[in-house]
Amino acid sequence: CGIVGYIGQQDTKEILLNGLNKLEYRGYDSAGIAMLNEEGISLFKATGRIANLRKRVDNSISATMGIGHTRWATHGIPSGENAHPHMSASGRFVLVHNGVIENYVELKRELLADVSFVSETDTEVIVQLVEKFANEGMDTKTAFQRALQQLEGSYAIAMIDREDSENLYVAKNKSPLLLGVGAGFHVVASDAMATLQLTDMYIEIHDKEMVLLSKDHAVIEKLDGTPVNRDTFQVTIDA
Ligand code: GLU
Repeated sequence: CGIVGYIGQQDTKEILLNGLNKLEYRGYDSAGIAMLNEEGISLFKATGRIANLRKRVDNSISATMGIGHTRWATHGIPSGENAHPHMSASGRFVLVHNGVIENYVELKRELLADVSFVSETDTEVIVQLVEKFANEGMDTKTAFQRALQQLEGSYAIAMIDREDSENLYVAKNKSPLLLGVGAGFHVVASDAMATLQLTDMYIEIHDKEMVLLSKDHAVIEKLDGTPVNRDTFQVTIDA
C-alpha cells in the first residue's frame, strides 16, 4: 500500500501509474488515481491489479497534477467505493491516505454528523473535515491544517483542491513519505522506488508536518503553523 503525487509540467498519468506499479510489491487490494486539469477532477479506481486501473484510465485526459494510491484495506472491505482517492461531498476536494485514523468514529459523530459518507473508510473523514472547514470560510491551507489537527493515528496524505491548480496539499505522521524535487516539478511517494527514476534530490518531511507543494516550491509547516526550513539532499544509488 502507498501513495504517490505529482505536480509539474509533464503529463501525470504515466508518472502516477508507473509509481503505483513500483509500489505494487508492498501489497494492495485496490488502486486509484485522481488528476486535475482545466476540465476539473478526473477520478479512476479499480479493485485488483494496477493493470485493471490502467484499463479504466481515460488516455485522452492530460493533466500536470495528480495523486495515486494502492490500498491495503484496514477499515471497510476492498471495493470500488472504499478504494482511494476519496472525494468530499461537493466534489471539491479529493485525497489519498496511507495509514489508520484511530479516532474516525468520534470525528464522524462529533464533527460530521450531517455528512453522508459514501465509503466505510476511516480516510473519508479527512476529506470531509477539510470540506467542512472550507465551507466555514477557511482558505484551503487553513482547512487542511485544521483537519490534520483533529486526527489521531498514522497518515501519509496527498490532496487536490479543484479550485487550486497551483498546489498539492501533503502531510505526514508515522507513515512513510518522501518528497522528491526536480526541475519544475515535485513528486511525493511512500517509497523511493516510485520516485528514483524521476529525481535524486529529496527533502525530508517529518511527522506532524504539512507541505504546500507547487511545481517550484515546497512550503513546509508544522501542524501548529510554525514554518520549517529544510535543505534538499542528494541520494546516490549504487549500481
Ligand atoms: N485506512 C485506510 C483504508 O482502509 C488506508 C489503508 C492504506 O493505508 O492503504 O482505506
